Amino acid sequence: MSTVSKRQNANTNSVSNSDVDFSSNLTDKQRKELEDLKKPAKANEFGGAIGTPLLTFGLPILVYWLWASLEFNQGYPLRPEELSVAGFQKFFVDLYYLVISYAYPTKEAAVIYFAWFFFQAFLQHFVPGKATLGSPLPGGKRLPYVLNGWASWWITMIAVPAGAYFGLYKATILYDHYAPMLTVVNIWSFVFTILLKIHAKIKDEEERMSGYFFYDFWMGFARNPRIGSFDLKLFCEARPGLILWVLFNFSIAAKQYEQFGFIPISTIMVSAFHAWYIADYYYHEEAILTTMDIITEKFGYMLVYGDLAWVPFTYCFQTYYILKHTDAAGKPIQITNEYALLVLAIFSVGFYLFRWVNSQKHAFRRNPENPIWGKRPEFIATKRGTKLLVSGFWGICRHLNYTGDIIISWAWCLPCGFDSIVPYFYGIYFTTLDFHRCHRDHRACLEKYGDDWKEYCRRVPYVFIPYIF
Ligand code: NDP
Repeated sequence: MSTVSKRQNANTNSVSNSDVDFSSNLTDKQRKELEDLKKPAKANEFGGAIGTPLLTFGLPILVYWLWASLEFNQGYPLRPEELSVAGFQKFFVDLYYLVISYAYPTKEAAVIYFAWFFFQAFLQHFVPGKATLGSPLPGGKRLPYVLNGWASWWITMIAVPAGAYFGLYKATILYDHYAPMLTVVNIWSFVFTILLKIHAKIKDEEERMSGYFFYDFWMGFARNPRIGSFDLKLFCEARPGLILWVLFNFSIAAKQYEQFGFIPISTIMVSAFHAWYIADYYYHEEAILTTMDIITEKFGYMLVYGDLAWVPFTYCFQTYYILKHTDAAGKPIQITNEYALLVLAIFSVGFYLFRWVNSQKHAFRRNPENPIWGKRPEFIATKRGTKLLVSGFWGICRHLNYTGDIIISWAWCLPCGFDSIVPYFYGIYFTTLDFHRCHRDHRACLEKYGDDWKEYCRRVPYVFIPYIF
């Protein structure tokens, strides 16, 4: 607790209004940046006008399929009995009946979810934290943020287990209501996105709209919608989904204890890795302000669904699998100590890369004079005004942070053994996400930086692995 209070004491100084006020003396470049936001955008990402409705409706179906595979098929993927139109029809009808029968939204699930959602909103709004400014947005504006994630994380990690300990609810409550809650959150993600659309329209904050309904619904409307000082995007990105993911693991572990009489080592490992990753995220919370999600993305269904539904309900699939994938005697997967140590080593390598690469960029952006590996950093001073680091990790590859994250993602799956592909869903998805993300970031940087980005790519030709890719 001493670290928490030290951070809080150091962090309660507020940002003065003069830091925040958006000067009316815009440069021509800034004025043009603002004008550009009002221009129509091409519908050319995520498969455009066809791909985005498919993703909007396809992703929830994918999650139901994976859940049904875990819950009803011992963690093996449910498949059509025959590869024919009739076979697929039967498969989807069966899946539909499983959802209607077991994932129908209940009053209890809605009460649990919204109590959770508003508890997190309360913490974000009222817990003291470090006042800081975000990265410059188009037009030069920097938004003020109060970062209290570290304290909120610990408050939640004490309050939620305490509630179970004192008998307010069962420790298995989240697992017991998983499926109905998934449907509640699916519906809420749709409603929330529609409310964002209305909010952006009323406040005239829509940016780069394409005119294609589902494309705009997916990509979003305003970049940083706020109600007063409450930042909706930072909240959804950082709070209700991330911590719920960790709590799902804990709840599933409690179920395993109830069912097996012990918690398997593989569950302990996966839960500890996840909790460590999220605690680290909150400890370095300020770094989120320089990420693509906060700086570049607009806020729409892609992020809303990703943050609220996808992250908590699918990232816990490994522990869910360990609960359901039992042997003939009803016992869970056992892994050897040597194998556990190997997985720990892989996770540690991935985590080291992920953390230090991200921190290096963040520290450089805060103070470009900070030495990197004992030397003055080299950088490209861009015409846009910001600097691109070419020292340290950022001089080896353009996205070693993604490399670290991809290694982590596979380390999270390995404790599940090799019987089924379902627990490897996260590794497969995350590797695909980071490759696609890298491609999108490259395109965005090319647009932002032009020749300066080409020069950076010339000086740092590798993306993920030096001399290979
Ligand atoms: P980055 O942190 O790499 O941010 C990319 C941005 O950084 C660029 O748009 C550019 O923005 C700036 N930049 C690029 N190169 C340089 C350079 N050489 N020097 C200085 N600035 C540079 O990526 P993300 O925001 O996508 O991700 C951050 C982390 O979060 C990653 O580790 C990622 O894997 C992780 N992540 C995890 C997810 C999960 O579900 N577990 C989901 C999404 C991300 P500008 O110049 O405008 O500042």
